[in-house]
Amino acid sequence: MEKRIFLSSPHMSGNEQKYINDAFETNWIAPLGPNVNAFEEELAAYAETAGAAVTSSGTAAIHLAMELLGVGQGDTVFCASLTFVASANPILYLGAEPVFIDSEEETWNMSPKALACAMEEAKAEGKLPKAVIVVNLYGQSAKMDELMAICGAYGVPMIEDAAESLGSFYKGKKSGSFGQYGIYSFNGNKIITTSGGGALVSNDLDALAQSRFLATQARDAAKHYQHSVVGYNYRMSNILAGVGRAQLEVLEERVQARRNVFDRYMEALGDIQGVHFMPELEGTYSNRWLTALTLDPKLIKVTPYELIDALEAENIEARPVWKPLHMQPLFEGSKFYPHAEDGVVSERLFAEGICLPSGSNITVEEQERVVRVIRRVLSD
Ligand SMILES: *Cc1c(COP(=O)(O)O)cnc(C)c1O
Repeated sequence: MEKRIFLSSPHMSGNEQKYINDAFETNWIAPLGPNVNAFEEELAAYAETAGAAVTSSGTAAIHLAMELLGVGQGDTVFCASLTFVASANPILYLGAEPVFIDSEEETWNMSPKALACAMEEAKAEGKLPKAVIVVNLYGQSAKMDELMAICGAYGVPMIEDAAESLGSFYKGKKSGSFGQYGIYSFNGNKIITTSGGGALVSNDLDALAQSRFLATQARDAAKHYQHSVVGYNYRMSNILAGVGRAQLEVLEERVQARRNVFDRYMEALGDIQGVHFMPELEGTYSNRWLTALTLDPKLIKVTPYELIDALEAENIEARPVWKPLHMQPLFEGSKFYPHAEDGVVSERLFAEGICLPSGSNITVEEQERVVRVIRRVLSD
């Protein structure tokens, strides 16, 4: 059996050990310390936001953002349907109700048309959502101008789930820096990693200070242990923040590498009738975290599952596109707003989509192996 090719594996730069050693030498083995402070400053400088608060995971950062926006029991939160469950789980943590919004074709992300429809109905019912969670799938920015205009018109804050889009741009502005809060993830499979971790970025420094308070068990200013509100244990450790600092230094190289991976797949497979690569909206620059494509069932008899199985037989890891959250048993009965009456875009992308191995450390030879299997299976 040939060596396994992973979907997206960690890619260390070599400098991580230096920052980890600093933490050990000074005995800062805690969920605070100089690496945490420096990583927050460096991340905010990168994102061009006033500040950043680093957390134990991206999910924790989403939870904190919603908490800061006052999401609670009985509230509704609008969320993109085509995403990883972590975008929406914190809605349930807070006892609120998710309403799912379909994708549109040009970015695979939240449809402004469906969002406008959902907002209009919510307003008519006298119950606007507490927040809208926009996701930038596989590195591609959603249609921010349109989505922000709708949120602005109704006075509803936006949380930008940029867990997959660190290093991407929308009209020259850093992905994650839109909306009231932006969220990054440094999970092991993301474009840069701290093994596990996340961040909240914002221009509201008071809110970020409050997020750090909530993330460290909400300890009141007193000599003894005093607590007035519910807190969490959500801070990033000083060791992992050291890994993050070294990873951030190579972010641009990682983006370039993943874009090269995408270009090579496009070159090698783009001529096959019925293979459609995920688009890149004009004016946006995707980090191409994962190379995603769809197989048109009218032209290709092989299903994504059959292709994934054929790749697996060759020790190659590929995955379906996220299963829309409105189709998940967990969210059964939740409201959903489709892009158009006669076609649900997220469901089609799920049925036809596949994500190929896209790590920044995949070699040209490994990619050729992937391409060979795909060409063989699709020509059967
Ligand atoms: C990875 C991911 C998250 C969650 O991040 P964790 O750090 O794993 O908690 C949230 N949203 C999306 C879209 C993701 O891909």
